Amino acid sequence: MNIILLGPPGAGKGTQAKILEEKHGLKQLSTGDMLRAAVAAGSEIGLKAKAIMDRGDLVSDDVIVGIVAERMDKPDIQKGVTFDGFPRTPAQAGALDKMLAGRNEKLDAVIEMKVDDEALVKRISGRFTCASCGKGYHDTFAPPKMAGVCDNCGGTAFTRRPDDNEKTVRDRLAVYNKQTAPLVEYYASKGNLHVIDGMAGIAQVTGAVEAVLKKVKG
Ligand code: AMP
Repeated sequence: MNIILLGPPGAGKGTQAKILEEKHGLKQLSTGDMLRAAVAAGSEIGLKAKAIMDRGDLVSDDVIVGIVAERMDKPDIQKGVTFDGFPRTPAQAGALDKMLAGRNEKLDAVIEMKVDDEALVKRISGRFTCASCGKGYHDTFAPPKMAGVCDNCGGTAFTRRPDDNEKTVRDRLAVYNKQTAPLVEYYASKGNLHVIDGMAGIAQVTGAVEAVLKKVKG
């Protein structure tokens, strides 16, 4: 089963993709995570992408399609993929259609997570991650049970993304509305768009995602 989680930055795509991976074995394919790994590794792609990511712009379609194609060649995605942060442009959507057709696979559902822009700025500006296990937290909405200690692994080091500041978040939202939002129409016209409320709590959103999966499984 292959699913796209479509929504602006901070909509909760990563959180839900991780839950889908745990529950259903659908691999989370986050182009943002892949690019951040490339930046951390200092690879050629990482060096080129860093400045673009820091200002909230999109990395070129060629680079993105290349890293996704390479990832899809790995053997651990037999159960399917949840695309998180990809596709972000009509050209990427077209490339994904071709990649899936070449594998004799299809998209089972595109789930649009609807959220309010101002709420997103608040959500993103306060988020941080455990440096050891990657569990996500938020200063106001989801702090660790014990301040400074990860609930999951006991780690005490946390990281914040350099692009999670208010100015860049607003720029990323503008880029989303201009370049990615048109994909909603594209997938609606293909008949596999499902819209859910991304403003609800995590468990409720998971429930809505599960309801879509049930529907498409038949
Ligand atoms: P994300 O973690 O999905 O919010 O992505 C962080 C940043 O990585 C974005 O602001 C872009 O600069 C870049 N990026 C991630 N995915 C893509 C993509 N599919 N196309 C272009 N740029 C991307």
